[in-house]
Amino acid sequence: MQIITDPQAMTAWSLEQQAAGHRVGFVPTMGYLHSGHASLIDIAGNHADRVVVSIYVNPLQFGPDEDLDRYPRDPEGDLATCERHGAHAIFMPASLYQPGFCTNVSVSGLTGGLCGAHRPGHFDGVTTVVARLFGIVRPHIAVFGEKDYQQLAVVRRMTLDLALGVEIIPGPLVRDHDGLALSSRNRYLSAEERRRGLSLSRALRAMVSASTSDVAELKRIGSEQLEVDRLDYLEVVCASSLAPLAKLDRPARAVVAGFVGSTRLIDGMALEPRP
Ligand code: AMP
Repeated sequence: MQIITDPQAMTAWSLEQQAAGHRVGFVPTMGYLHSGHASLIDIAGNHADRVVVSIYVNPLQFGPDEDLDRYPRDPEGDLATCERHGAHAIFMPASLYQPGFCTNVSVSGLTGGLCGAHRPGHFDGVTTVVARLFGIVRPHIAVFGEKDYQQLAVVRRMTLDLALGVEIIPGPLVRDHDGLALSSRNRYLSAEERRRGLSLSRALRAMVSASTSDVAELKRIGSEQLEVDRLDYLEVVCASSLAPLAKLDRPARAVVAGFVGSTRLIDGMALEPRP
């Protein structure tokens, strides 16, 4: 497994692999890897001959009051996870933005609601770093988790609109044994906060198993379960456009985000249309 820190060396490695006839798969991450990330590495391995994992805590996607400074890091554990899951190269740049960097990649529409409405500038940070990473890594395919459902949709849109030529492959959300969506941020939670954090997946499960197609009723059923300190949103959106729905008449996703203590948690589940 190659550990690469220099962007030019990363591009050279990738072009070398491609010249040898290999398909390159890519999994961008911010590190502190868990089984959710590992599942994306496995998926990339099923679609490509060479897998690159990037580990970079991207300052552009954090707001001024967010957790950039305390974001958890574990480079040694991350390397061991990547090795165990058969990654061929790890891209760990010290910085991704050279002096003079002044480009912003911004997707409109899809970024207006949900996390975009509560984290101003967040998705510009995501699309700007992903566009730059795609330019450096030059992958054929890239895997993004459905845990960050809006991010997946936004990256898909950007890749299509800018004709970046990367196939975006979704990875199912991976949960802990108790149902909590795996997240690097779960390590911030005290035992009591973790217990209340479980109310997100409980709310979504209640919505999935309810028989009504009335979204106001579904949201009422879900919100009864929530034990968060501050709710950012509980929504039922169209699975492709992310537009809020009033009736569950097409494939949809129930999505929730909120704070338990100072930790922001998000979760989501697929909802099938109902008669
Ligand atoms: P992050 O390191 O949090 O920026 O996430 C990197 C990638 O891993 C993103 O595509 C996330 O959607 C994905 N990811 C994070 N948590 C999970 C999870 N529990 N299940 C599946 N994918 C995940």
